[in-house]
Amino acid sequence: MFETEIIRIPILPMHMVNAHLIRSEAGCILVDAGIPGSEHRIGKVLARHALTFRDIKLIIVTHAHTDHAGSAARLRALSGAPILAHRDDADFYSRKEPMTYCSTGWVGKLFFRTPIPHEPYEGFVPDIMMSNGDTTNLLDFGVDGVVRHTAGHTPGSIAVELASKDALVGDLIASGILIGGMAFLGRAIRPPFEDDPERVARELEHLVQRGAKRFYMGHGGPLEVPEVLRHAKLLSKIAAHCCSAGGCGHRSHRPSVPTRFRLCHPSVPETPVSSKQT
Ligand SMILES: [Zn+2]
Ligand SMILES: [Zn+2]
Repeated sequence: MFETEIIRIPILPMHMVNAHLIRSEAGCILVDAGIPGSEHRIGKVLARHALTFRDIKLIIVTHAHTDHAGSAARLRALSGAPILAHRDDADFYSRKEPMTYCSTGWVGKLFFRTPIPHEPYEGFVPDIMMSNGDTTNLLDFGVDGVVRHTAGHTPGSIAVELASKDALVGDLIASGILIGGMAFLGRAIRPPFEDDPERVARELEHLVQRGAKRFYMGHGGPLEVPEVLRHAKLLSKIAAHCCSAGGCGHRSHRPSVPTRFRLCHPSVPETPVSSKQT
């Protein structure tokens, strides 16, 4: 089997936003594509490791938020690699549906008011579309591992589980302060937005049960198992306030709201949905 190395690609400084490259002797897989315009940063990291865009065999987009999917279409054009993503976020990738943001607290609400989450990105249709329950084996792309559906952060969030016991989980968990990263990298936090904390808690526990030992994330990280489990336990306690309880503007609950972006407030479920046109 192939030995793998995980290379962090800083999309924003101080671990605030990361993409990752999984490198094995048989090929490279890019996990997440950064905000729009990230191809230059990604290209620099590739060059530092004596690689080019053409060494990327697959682009895995963990979910449709702009800091993960923003440069996917451009990177596909540069690398020729297919994009793998989950069908439950497909309408966001194609820009057919507005992205929904369920803020996890004041940082999320503040962050929502910055241009970053709303930065439009070039829409795309994933070449390899996972559906509920699918597991995609990465051996065909030179990496010993699988991709699984791990919904909760968004409906179509996916995570990579490697034979090395490393897991690349997108925004299923974050660490540090503010949007993640910066100080206290070893301390788990919720990312600024999260649809369904109860589901996230379950998925984190399942990842640990299946053997994941180290978690690499889009914001902060990496984290070890005890901190992931501590966080999952806390998350399951706040499940009563979550988006899935119906007190928010999630598209599955408010399909007729004609706004481009919707923000819900999981901590105050009885509050009416506030919306913002951008
Ligand atoms: Zn996200
Ligand atoms: Zn993110």
